[in-house]
Order: sequence, then structure tokens, then C-alpha cells
Amino acid sequence: MTRTLEGTVALVTGASSGIGRATALELARRGAAVSLVGRREDRLIELASEIAGVGGRSLVLAADITSAQAAAQAVERTVEGLGRLDTLVNNAGLMLLGPAAGATVGDWQRMIDVNLAGLMYCTHAAVPHLVKAAADGPRQVADIVNISSVAGRVAYGMSAAYCATKFGVGAFSEALRQELARLHVRVSAVEPGAVDTELRTHNPEEIQAQLDARFGDMERLQGDDVADAVAYIVTRARHVAIGELLVRPTEQV
Ligand code: NDP
Repeated sequence: MTRTLEGTVALVTGASSGIGRATALELARRGAAVSLVGRREDRLIELASEIAGVGGRSLVLAADITSAQAAAQAVERTVEGLGRLDTLVNNAGLMLLGPAAGATVGDWQRMIDVNLAGLMYCTHAAVPHLVKAAADGPRQVADIVNISSVAGRVAYGMSAAYCATKFGVGAFSEALRQELARLHVRVSAVEPGAVDTELRTHNPEEIQAQLDARFGDMERLQGDDVADAVAYIVTRARHVAIGELLVRPTEQV
């Protein structure tokens, strides 16, 4: 594998499991030093040793990105510890499903706080460093990759609030893309279909059973498949910007 990202620094939120974990590992394999952000520090430490095992460098930053202050600190500590910031992968997310009528508004708030506000806080703190990286970095370009969802393009019943957060991610990404294009900071949204991760397990068993019924024995994506899409985006030549990538399991309709 070519180490195209040698000399660059990436920050991945939600690196403690699933897509974020796989993405952090993939970017490290391609030569990036990676800042690992999430709340479960034990998982991040375990990933850091796996990254060291493939000859990579990382920094463990236990943080809850729903706090604007904690998100800003994670970005600043990344720059202090690893020297710069070229790539931000806003991946942390939560999916709590069920009918909108009678839903717990606290569940809605948690999804808004993580999926949308947390992503915006991390982005707000990172942009000045990304602009600088695009001006003086090894690749003369920087990236923000936002992990949205198919649910950010098509709304489904039983996922009204989750869809609202992911549609919000799409709007934020496109507006930011327009603002940063001339500065060579690319903004992309990745929209995965069903991925085999812990995401669904935060739902009650009956909701998980409904998801199982919907997807049946369909072969789901793995975290690595989405990591591959992220790596594709951030390794394009400086003049090529991938705005959106929709990645579904082949059998998903
Ligand atoms: P996981 O549940 O495996 O990962 C979610 C990650 O988000 C965890 O690492 C978790 O870390 C982190 N996280 C949650 N809350 C916070 C917080 N407050 N502060 C910091 N980190 C937080 O699920 P996935 O890997 O599947 O999800 C990753 C992204 O992919 C999400 O945005 C999700 O919406 C999106 N997605 C997933 C799909 C799927 O089918 N799995 C499909 C489409 C999109 P910790 O608990 O340690 O804080």
C-alpha cells in the first residue's frame, strides 16, 4: 500500500468502534498520524497499540464531543501533540429508532447533540488548522469527511429524528464545501447503507428485531468498506474533490 498520507495528521471521532475504528486504522496504514477521539478510552488505547503494530503513530484523546469545549480541546490537543491537522473525519454518531409520536425527546436531543452539534463543534475548531494545512502542508490540500448515511438522502419512517440529523449533516457539508473550496479544504459526505457495527445495539430489542426483519440475511458492509471510501476521498489529487459517496451493500434496496 502506498503511504500517500505520510507527514499528514488526521483526527477521527468515534474511533473506539465500527467505522471510526476501521477508518483510523486505514489512514494510519497510509501514513497519517491519527488522533483517536471517543469516550471509551480503553478501546482507544487498544486501537493505538494496533496502530503502533502496523508502524503507525496515534494519540488517544478521550472526549465527549457533545461539549463544544471538549471538541475544541480535542482539536487543540491534536495539533499540540501531532503538530498539525490535515484531515478531520466526523464519524461519531448515534441511531435511536422508533415512531416519532410518543418518542422520548431526550433520545432526539442525544442524536442532535452527537450527530449534528458535535460534528459542527469539531469542524468549527478544526477549520483554521485545516486552512493552514492546505496552505503549507505536504499535500497542499486538507479534508473534512462527514459520515452521514443513506438516511441523510432518503427519509424513512421510524427514523425521523435520525434522518433529520443526517439531512442536517448534508446541508452543513454542502454549505461549508462552498465556503472552503477556494482555500483547498475539501468537504465530503459519505453515506453508508447498512454496516455491521454496534450502532443498532443502542436500540431496544424489538427495534433491533425490526431491523433484522428488514434486512434479513443480506450481507452488510463492514467498517473496513466505509474506511476504504474515506481513504479514497482523502487520497485524491489536489484538484479532485469527491463531494458525496453513497456506499450500500450490494443487496440493499
Ligand atoms: P458505532 O456505534 O460502532 O460507533 C459510534 C462511535 O461514535 C463510537 O466510537 C462512539 O464512541 C462514538 N460516539 C458516540 N457518542 C459520542 C460522543 N458523545 N462523543 C464522542 N464519541 C461518541 O457505530 P458506527 O461505526 O456504525 O457509526 C459511525 C457513524 O456511521 C455514525 O455517524 C453513524 O450514524 C454512521 N452510519 C452507520 C451506519 C450503520 O449501518 N452502522 C449506516 C450509515 C451511517 P464512544 O461510545 O466510545 O464515545
